[in-house]
Amino acid sequence: MKMKRFLITGGAGFIGSAVVRRLLGTTDHQVLVVDKLTYAGNLESLVSVSSDPRYGFERADITDATAMRRILSEFSPDVMMHLAAESHVDRSIDGPGEFIQTNIVGTYVLLQAALEHWRGLTAERKSGFRFHHISTDEVFGSLGPTGFFYEDTAYQPNSPYSASKAASDHLVRAWHHTYGLPVVMTNCSNNYGPFHFPEKLIPLTIINALEGKPLPVYGTGENIRDWLHVEDHAEALFQVAERGTLGESYNIGGHNEHTNISVVRAICALLDELAPNDAIGPREKLITFVTDRPGHDARYAIDAAKIERELGWKPRHTFESGLRQTVQWYLDNKLWWERVRSGVYRGERLGVAV
Ligand code: NAD
Repeated sequence: MKMKRFLITGGAGFIGSAVVRRLLGTTDHQVLVVDKLTYAGNLESLVSVSSDPRYGFERADITDATAMRRILSEFSPDVMMHLAAESHVDRSIDGPGEFIQTNIVGTYVLLQAALEHWRGLTAERKSGFRFHHISTDEVFGSLGPTGFFYEDTAYQPNSPYSASKAASDHLVRAWHHTYGLPVVMTNCSNNYGPFHFPEKLIPLTIINALEGKPLPVYGTGENIRDWLHVEDHAEALFQVAERGTLGESYNIGGHNEHTNISVVRAICALLDELAPNDAIGPREKLITFVTDRPGHDARYAIDAAKIERELGWKPRHTFESGLRQTVQWYLDNKLWWERVRSGVYRGERLGVAV
């Protein structure tokens, strides 16, 4: 495989760091991470690859047009994978401004910088260049008890987060159709796995249950999410970045639909088995139902037939094996999440919109 130069925005985040580990671990490509290091960015998620001479890091804000132009001109990427975003729905309810700035304005700034860079490339490099925009299935809104999201499902975002991601998807599509920028796009279901910031359901539940703290479940816990292991997502992203058809979008999902309450119960059972604690007792009794998230989407489910058919991608982890591996990872990597937790976020409830 020809060596390429990959620029990864948001590479210090949960999914971005999995992509960087995948790229440096199994290819000859060079990687430059561009990340502002917000509360969600963590260079400790990249320690396993940061001494690789093919790895580089730039601390920069994607809304900073001057910085983006400079970085693109210095690094001269063949592939840009855009993952930098504000990503937590609850935070978008409390403070949508940052989501508008990073997810919409930041994507616009990056597209303009990418366009300028792409136009200046030699014909050969120009034809190989691609801008890969990473997005979420939440742009499609909420499903009833049946049906799936397809690539051509109409957009109907319900939260400030999903609306900002939907806007960014539209910008990327428009830069392809209007200016010819070579883009590929992906929309993925909920991810879980190692290095997940402990404000999201799975890591928050693991850590609270481990420590015998209450396990908050929104509403009745019947909301359904389609879970995908982050390493399966990283693999899918790599395949799309390398081989996806320009101008196309691909849905990525695990065919792993679970209610939130069943996910929390499964984590309780795994911790009772892997880290029994007599003082805490059975973890299920820590479950506490709390006021639902305003506008909480009922169900997400992805039809991932297109990426399987066209690129041969299929998830490797089952939810059962992936969740067990994830719980074990949090047990083995206490230092990572204790350091994360000692920063700005201390596990408090966010996003009640009062
Ligand atoms: P994350 O919050 O863990 O990481 C986001 C990263 O972006 C962080 O490292 C942060 O420092 C960086 N960042 C934020 N604002 C920035 C800015 N203005 N400039 C530069 N860097 C900035 O998010 P994640 O869960 O890894 O998600 C990555 C991408 O995948 C996002 O675009 C998200 O919308 C999308 N996505 C996430 C999921 C999921 O389940 N987590 C599912 C589908 C799609």
